Amino acid sequence: MTGERDSRRELPSVDRVLQESQDLISRWGHQRVSQVIREHLSNMRERISAGQEPERSILAIHCAINTQLSASDARGIRPVINLSGVVLHTNLGRACLPAAAAEAARQAAIFPNNLEYDLQTGKRGNRDSHVEPLICELTGSEAATVVNNNAAAVVLALSTLARGLEVPVSRGELVEIGGSFRVPEVMESSGCTLVEVGATNRTHLQDYRAAISAQTALLMKVHTSNYRLQGFTQSVDAKTLAELAHEHGLPCMVDLGSGCLVDFTALGLPGEPQASDYIANGIDLITFSGDKLLGGPQCGIIAGKKSLVERICKNPLKRALRVDSMILAALSEVLKLYRHPESLTETLPTLRQLTRPATQIEAQAVRLCDELASHLPPPFRAATSPCRSQIGSGALPVETLPSFAIAIESDQGRDSDLRHLATELRKLPRPVIGRIHDGRLLLDLRCLDCESLFLQQLPQLRDALSC
Ligand SMILES: *Cc1c(COP(=O)(O)O)cnc(C)c1O
Repeated sequence: MTGERDSRRELPSVDRVLQESQDLISRWGHQRVSQVIREHLSNMRERISAGQEPERSILAIHCAINTQLSASDARGIRPVINLSGVVLHTNLGRACLPAAAAEAARQAAIFPNNLEYDLQTGKRGNRDSHVEPLICELTGSEAATVVNNNAAAVVLALSTLARGLEVPVSRGELVEIGGSFRVPEVMESSGCTLVEVGATNRTHLQDYRAAISAQTALLMKVHTSNYRLQGFTQSVDAKTLAELAHEHGLPCMVDLGSGCLVDFTALGLPGEPQASDYIANGIDLITFSGDKLLGGPQCGIIAGKKSLVERICKNPLKRALRVDSMILAALSEVLKLYRHPESLTETLPTLRQLTRPATQIEAQAVRLCDELASHLPPPFRAATSPCRSQIGSGALPVETLPSFAIAIESDQGRDSDLRHLATELRKLPRPVIGRIHDGRLLLDLRCLDCESLFLQQLPQLRDALSC
């Protein structure tokens, strides 16, 4: 017992360690460093009580708290290398901005700007004015506004137009889209009552008709991509629904989800109805995401009839859901790129990644495979392999794109080896995210833009795996 007490007494005091930690204090501040030292010393005391023999020198303690402070600073948003095979990965930040948009956001972030200031008159301006004309131009709408994301766009539109009223919507469209997003829950949080009707195709137009009452606020459609293949020719169906709405003096609203502003089939991609088709077909209001297929920053776009958009902008909730100048600056640069649709597959990262030919990805896989293999100790083996990429973000979930991966196997066929490798890949300075599928760790190279960075890290990977 006395021995234990003695060894605990041998620990230096907090003040003593602090004296030796001027370098850490100047970096992280006195308060934080002393807090970490206190925690570390109390942790050491517990370990000593438990019969362990932690290194007690000031140098060792200094080193440990330095590691701990650095590690806690490393948390936060960090860039990663997305080799998951999902291009618009919601957990990995969805669309990557083009350089011009990122630069515009940076300028907006560090300088005062004309967010709500009219430089001509010197009077108060409107933040939507920076993107509204572009959105109108690209969608054929009369008016538009931008909020935090598409879920916010749906809530704001319904809260303005349907609070306390009924919204008939097809049962088949009340689905969960991407993990935790449930269309009915988001819609009802606006204070409207959903009236579920049978289905979405023509034969069920009667269901909508039967659901219309004096309490009906509007007719609504939610674009769920998994219907697209089954002949859900949205423009026709949405058009018919809009006609029914207009017969009853009601507006028709469509939540497009992804919102596509160009002809995808012309780019060799699976067809996706365009925002402008809906407006041309008489839909009064559309909402869509900024960071899905559009390839911009996170935001939600509301576009359509001027009278409706004006009401929406007067809703106090708009103030709670508005976006900042960084988002508007980035969005406006992205939208400008859409004025040159022919070059979008070069200028817009999302479309560049989605349209990368499999042959080009294969060539890259062949080029990198041996180098990666040479840095993998046993039991790992690497080979190139065809795979399928997903578009992601609930956009076209049933469609996949032919791609190429470096596929890594363990000689022993152990999944635990692959999980260990995946963990070490995630620990790299620029974490690499792959996916384990069918006994292989797949690194889908579709989104590998920073090839040299990836290669530079391989020696570190080898060191980590060898120890
Ligand atoms: C993704 C999606 C949403 C939500 O959009 P966020 O921008 O993620 O808020 C809403 N509706 C549909 C149909 C979607 O696909």
